[in-house]
Amino acid sequence: MTLVDTHCHLDDPKFDHDREQALERALAAGVTRLMAIGTGNGPPDLEAAIRLAERYPAMYATIGVHPHDASEATGDTFARLRDLAAHPKVLAFGEIGLDYHYDFSPRDVQRAVFERQLALAAEARKPIVIHTREAWEDTLAGVTSLPYGGIMHCFTGDAAQARQALDRGFHLSFGGVLTFPKAEALREAARIAPDDRILVETDCPYLAPVPHRGKRNEPAFVVETARRLAEVRGTTPENIAQLTTRNFEALCLR
Ligand SMILES: [Zn+2]
Ligand SMILES: [Zn+2]
Repeated sequence: MTLVDTHCHLDDPKFDHDREQALERALAAGVTRLMAIGTGNGPPDLEAAIRLAERYPAMYATIGVHPHDASEATGDTFARLRDLAAHPKVLAFGEIGLDYHYDFSPRDVQRAVFERQLALAAEARKPIVIHTREAWEDTLAGVTSLPYGGIMHCFTGDAAQARQALDRGFHLSFGGVLTFPKAEALREAARIAPDDRILVETDCPYLAPVPHRGKRNEPAFVVETARRLAEVRGTTPENIAQLTTRNFEALCLR
């Protein structure tokens, strides 16, 4: 059984003391490929994930400006993103989107930076990785087309929202929240998603799945989420591994 962790922040300082070991534990658990999210500490550093991907064969990278950091983006940032998109290990733009929970950047700035990056992704023919929090309607409204596909990262919506995202062409990526006792509405969403539109992720170091909940999350733990997803969908973890791996390849490695 091999799995892909489609969303991890291994550049986070929480991995400074054991990054290599965390990666080894992932490989030992069958997590053979990882997509490192490149939003880092925000611009001007846009290469947080690329540095990791250049160092570790199992790792791929995304590039982008997180909605939290939208107000730091400049013309230079977008020019640099356009260049970095040509890097052979850059698979997607992300995580990009809108976060009205924290509102770390003004909403109009978030929307403008989101729109700009959607255009860059389309130009580079890359899928997008969406971060959306308390901004569902505006996020969907902002994505007027999805020519190269996209991922709703750490999807935590209900079945109705899942249908909306699926109708728009998105893949749904499930993380540790799927294993939380109270997440019944999310599990219903996970039940109705078609086989060819599901992915798994950790979003580590955040949101560790049960039984690691509350601890630092790491890529090896994506196995727990895959197991739970299998239970919810009435299938085997092997089947989930196969499907989600195939979906990652079709979306990001084409
Ligand atoms: Zn996120
Ligand atoms: Zn993330």
